[in-house]
Amino acid sequence: MIKKSMNNFNLRIFEKSSNTIGKTAVCMAKDGDKTVLIIMGQDKCGFKAEDSGEGKFKAELTHENAVVLRKHFPWTAPVKGLQKFMSFGFGDRLGLATPGHIELIRKRDIFPVFAQQSMRELTLTKRTYDDVLDAVTFAVFREGYKKGYGADGDHLKTAKDVQAALSLGFTMITLDCSDHIKNGASINIDIPQKYIDKYLNVEFDIEGIPLVFTKEELAACITIYSGVISFAAEIYRDFFASGKYDADLEISIDETESSTTPLQHYFVARELLDNEVVFATIAPRFCGEFQKGIDYIGDMVQFEKEINIHAAVARSLGYKLSIHSGSDKFSVFPIIAKACRGNFHLKTAGTNWLEAMRVAAAKDPGLYREIHKYAFTVFDEAKKYYHVTADITKIPGIQEIKDDDLPGLFDNSSDLRQLIHITYGFILDVYKDRLYALWHMHEDEYRSAIVKHIGRHLELLG
Ligand code: ZN
Repeated sequence: MIKKSMNNFNLRIFEKSSNTIGKTAVCMAKDGDKTVLIIMGQDKCGFKAEDSGEGKFKAELTHENAVVLRKHFPWTAPVKGLQKFMSFGFGDRLGLATPGHIELIRKRDIFPVFAQQSMRELTLTKRTYDDVLDAVTFAVFREGYKKGYGADGDHLKTAKDVQAALSLGFTMITLDCSDHIKNGASINIDIPQKYIDKYLNVEFDIEGIPLVFTKEELAACITIYSGVISFAAEIYRDFFASGKYDADLEISIDETESSTTPLQHYFVARELLDNEVVFATIAPRFCGEFQKGIDYIGDMVQFEKEINIHAAVARSLGYKLSIHSGSDKFSVFPIIAKACRGNFHLKTAGTNWLEAMRVAAAKDPGLYREIHKYAFTVFDEAKKYYHVTADITKIPGIQEIKDDDLPGLFDNSSDLRQLIHITYGFILDVYKDRLYALWHMHEDEYRSAIVKHIGRHLELLG
């Protein structure tokens, strides 16, 4: 941010935000603690703005004004872009992280999905999809980022939610099919002839890897995934087939107990394609554990073996793999990048929140200590929303930690990371105003923290 004052105004302009509508200049500025839009010209150009005299209008960062901004500057609205080589979902639960994300990808060839939030996150942060998208629109305008970004209605489970996100202009829908996965159901079924003809006594050659179904495996695929196929096909027909919305569809089958075998993945994709469902990505549940905010847990040799087949299946059938809960999976990033040959979608979210809390620990240790203690009291409740295996009794006693060492906790303790990671909704319920005041005051620190931490992700995935 480059700061300078304007005549008669006590404003600091965000220099990269200078734009024009005809002869009218529009930019963004800090007015004291508050960020506003400044319109300089004959009229307000449709913004809801207050006349400050001398042909200058000041507009607040409201939803109405975000809509007007997107109309005048189409590059502040989301676009579809998963077909690009590598794409990355930068979930930002707070609406504060996008300037850091922009700085990270300016020089990289990555399609960014800056707006990405799940229903669970919306509920816990008490935000709406309008809030999520507007925050990104304003950030993109402020930073002058014009290369295009996506907006992902993440983990949507119902037609109603899909409809809502699409009609707000979201350009990606992650269809969460987990409620339709029938793990553990009896697989003693009579296999319909059409599946026998299609899948038995054939060897599928996937980039030289032979895939062969046994009768038992085929029966299991049909039993477990038939509901997924029909659900996804129905959503596709109702919302995507007509081309009314220009959005990418992701099929997510990752929120389930047991991992998706490469054979099951092939079966799901093949059935979707044969049902004429067009999709950009599939998110299988990989072997091992992709828990929130910490590194991969599991057998890396097995993981590498399986993701190589998953990636080959995706490539040969014409879509890409999506990796969920991708935050902090440093040990497997190079394996993912290699298996997918750099062509994949990866999502992170909570790790941006953890970086915001790291900034809080550095800048206001007293506040952080209070929040830290509070998080312990709501951990059990928060576990209803997220699967983590953290043992919070292993977190070092905070009273023995010096102020200067508090931020380091976020590097040294996986248990602490998960504790703070999943309790965000509860923490925000109580500390929202104080935390946002702090983050607004230390925007540059937050930006640097994001650049450093998410930057490590991109380097290893590069
Ligand atoms: Zn997921």
